[in-house]
Amino acid sequence: MKEEGIKIETILVHGSKGFDETTGAVSFPIYQSATFRHPGLYETTGYDYSRLQNPTREELEKTIAKLEGGNEGLAFSSGMAAISTIFSFFKSGDNLIFSDDLYGGTYRLAEEIYKKLGISVTYIDTRNLKMVEEAIKTNTRAIFVETPTNPMMKVTDIKLIAELGHSKSLIVIIDNTFLTPYFQNPIKLGADIVVHSGTKYLGGHNDTLAGLLIVKDPSLAEQFRLIQKSVGAVLSPFDSWLILRGMKTLAIRLEREQESAFKVASFLKVNKNVENVYYVGLPDDEGYNISKLQARGFGGMISFRVKESSLVEKILKRIKVITFAESLGGVETLITYPMVQTHAAIPEEIRIKLGVDDRLLRLSIGLENAEDIIQDLEEAMFN
Ligand SMILES: *Cc1c(COP(=O)(O)O)cnc(C)c1O
Repeated sequence: MKEEGIKIETILVHGSKGFDETTGAVSFPIYQSATFRHPGLYETTGYDYSRLQNPTREELEKTIAKLEGGNEGLAFSSGMAAISTIFSFFKSGDNLIFSDDLYGGTYRLAEEIYKKLGISVTYIDTRNLKMVEEAIKTNTRAIFVETPTNPMMKVTDIKLIAELGHSKSLIVIIDNTFLTPYFQNPIKLGADIVVHSGTKYLGGHNDTLAGLLIVKDPSLAEQFRLIQKSVGAVLSPFDSWLILRGMKTLAIRLEREQESAFKVASFLKVNKNVENVYYVGLPDDEGYNISKLQARGFGGMISFRVKESSLVEKILKRIKVITFAESLGGVETLITYPMVQTHAAIPEEIRIKLGVDDRLLRLSIGLENAEDIIQDLEEAMFN
């Protein structure tokens, strides 16, 4: 079969090499070795030391590059380690434009770590191209967009933002954690770099942390590879294997989670205790039409605002099927209170303006029966 004809479900299951060439092992082996024997002076098997290369990590890196349509993939010990690698590529005096609604950890990394090293970040609603254009300064080097955003589910037109970015010689980076390559391929839409928290949908089982970078331009990839091996926040062989294993079921998990998310969002939409529902798969959602154009699905993430803040504590205490925990994208349905968990690092004034208030809750729909999830919410919200 021709390479380009292969569909995404097949790549997810088979990976890059897909099996071990020396033994034929169908499950790609975990090469749990820190170092590799040299056959002789100036000779190498291609592997020298696991911070530089490791066969299991390499299988994951090649698989994710293939899935996202990039030249190279790089695997890190967490999503934040991957995002930190992007930051360390820039230098003192550079300015970056970020989505204003953003994963709290990314905001914290910018404000607490890289700001003091002289890298400034401007936060803009990247759906508004005019505002983005006005924010571009002579020292602006990149645009970093989350779409859909965490937790307000704002959808940015990737093609348009990439065109704008490139017209100003900026690097365009997309955090594709929420939709994964199964539903959205930012590089094919014009982005230069894709970043993932592999901890979420790619791993898919709430059992490991991982971060991934996929880079289109080979010379850019080389610079990221230098940072990866110098800083050393690489993904371990076992964790690389867990992500490879998780990805094998990504397509089927996401399809079911999306189907259930639509049911849960529809239930919330008509519930008397709920004021707003943010799910891009609802036809009246602001992001629906752009999503239809640039993605193949809407995902399994829902945020909703209850009418009374007193309901929040009640819900978090009463739920039995849904788990009250941060994170997302796993087989277990999780509920998060962004204000005190994922977005605690964002100043109150900014948070409230974005809509991350004391009545906002976020759901990551898992693989339980959708009716059980709905009943759990119904009972938890009952006065
Ligand atoms: C979780 C998350 C991150 C950070 O990833 P970790 O694996 O937790 O370090 C970054 N971006 C988004 C959108 C996330 O949800």
